[in-house]
Amino acid sequence: MTQLALVIDLNTCVGCHACVTSCKEWNTSGEAGPMVDRNPYAKSCLHCEDPPCVPVCPTGASYKRPEDGIVLVDYDKCIGCEYCSWACPYGAREIDEQQKVMKKCTLCVDRIYDETLPEAERKPVCVLSCPTSARIYGDIHDPESEASRAINESAGYQLMPEWSTNPANHYLPRRKVKITVHEEDLQRADNPLRKEDRGPRAPTSRTTLDDSTSW
Ligand code: SF4
Ligand code: SF4
Ligand code: SF4
Repeated sequence: MTQLALVIDLNTCVGCHACVTSCKEWNTSGEAGPMVDRNPYAKSCLHCEDPPCVPVCPTGASYKRPEDGIVLVDYDKCIGCEYCSWACPYGAREIDEQQKVMKKCTLCVDRIYDETLPEAERKPVCVLSCPTSARIYGDIHDPESEASRAINESAGYQLMPEWSTNPANHYLPRRKVKITVHEEDLQRADNPLRKEDRGPRAPTSRTTLDDSTSW
């Protein structure tokens, strides 16, 4: 079974928020936009493989698509009771106060299957807009996908796995790089405070400015 997801590389993300602003631009354009703006920097949905937001829904509006694993809300069935947002441990859902329905990240389902777009653009808009390519999109159940390879090669991890939600989205941890700095590299030859006292010195036989000045 396909499970589409995002993989976010924390090593290359520079925190510029281009993903957030492009998501809001794409997803709030018009009444049918799937996102609301009350909490524009909230977390995106992780499209959990065992999503607790689905079974709590009394109307069946909250559902997980069997064909690609995307978790969505059917606005025609949603009664705005907010049970699902209480069940989501990641704060990914937000009620639309105007339309009185629950909204959240859709994994840009309206883009990724849009055959009027060039194939290279059939990706979530947050992925396309990232200037450092820190967001990878793909099927994490396909071991050959770019997303799966990134998870396997860089020890990708899930957020709060203790909730047993099995989030599809993963994060790639910051790599630790060991740097050796030699002690002499820390000395400045022109150190004006002379704390290190290792800079170039004038011959002691001659009077210098240091001898007549209190620094
Ligand atoms: S992150 Fe929250 S809203 Fe998204 S699938 Fe998981 S439990 Fe549901
Ligand atoms: S707010 Fe809508 S989607 Fe969420 S549990 Fe209630 S009816 Fe279902
Ligand atoms: S996949 Fe689409 S809806 Fe989800 S965070 Fe990215 S831009 Fe927003």
